[in-house]
Amino acid sequence: MSELFIKNLHVSVEGKEILKGVDLTVKQGEIHAIMGPNGTGKSTLAYTLMGHPRYEVTEGEVGFKGQNVLELEADERSRLGLFLAFQYPVAIPGVSVANFLRTALNARRRAVNPEDNGVPIPEFRRMLKEEMGLLKMDPNFAGRYLNDGFSGGEKKRAEILQMATLKPEIAILDETDSGLDIDALRIVADGVNALTGPELGMLVITHYQRLLNYIKPHFVHIMLNGRIVESGGPDLALNLEQHGYDWVREKYENGVAV
Ligand code: ADP
Ligand code: MG
Repeated sequence: MSELFIKNLHVSVEGKEILKGVDLTVKQGEIHAIMGPNGTGKSTLAYTLMGHPRYEVTEGEVGFKGQNVLELEADERSRLGLFLAFQYPVAIPGVSVANFLRTALNARRRAVNPEDNGVPIPEFRRMLKEEMGLLKMDPNFAGRYLNDGFSGGEKKRAEILQMATLKPEIAILDETDSGLDIDALRIVADGVNALTGPELGMLVITHYQRLLNYIKPHFVHIMLNGRIVESGGPDLALNLEQHGYDWVREKYENGVAV
């Protein structure tokens, strides 16, 4: 059973400390949601886990499968079984979604077994067809160039399909884009629900309470001023929906209990 652990993580952006000691463990099979008001550091956590060079870790640890994740390149993190959404946000004209996915899958297989010759194309086609069916995607999508002229919703679909193909042990999704409409939210939620199970651990970062109307997390965490200040079950999300964040802000000043 793999688990991703984050211990006392401190992260600065351009010399300003944003994360001030985050502790969190996500195990395979568990769905965790991190919620919090804007500007509290949720995306900073996601970018740090992705290995974005702009985010400087000043203290703390991130570990997965006995490895120090913070020392790994983004592609090494992926091959190890971590899935980080928005890893490939750029358009790649000339590379179809299917080709991109097959290349990524083969890289992951070779990381597990260096002798691996890659997935045979007919088998890959079958697999992709099955996954696209599961995600209720139009089969033509696989032939389109990755992210080239994709709508917000299509980018989300590509991301979820990537997750379905790579079968990560832990996936981290940041619903960072405030432009996400209700359809895109549903795509994410339906995809997540189709893929969850004992093999997949998930960290869903969102400021949309309504996303949690569709995804049922086992654990909910509230981030405030760079720290996780409250953790609980799904009832915590319900509480936020009913009462907003004011009670959290009143209880914790600068992320510290008062
Ligand atoms: P959230 O995702 O919770 O809304 P963010 O992690 O995006 O919060 O931002 C947390 C704080 O870090 C904000 O004050 C934001 O202005 C600052 N910040 C985040 N990324 C950058 C960046 N690339 N450059 C400068 N400041 C940043
Ligand atoms: Mg954000």
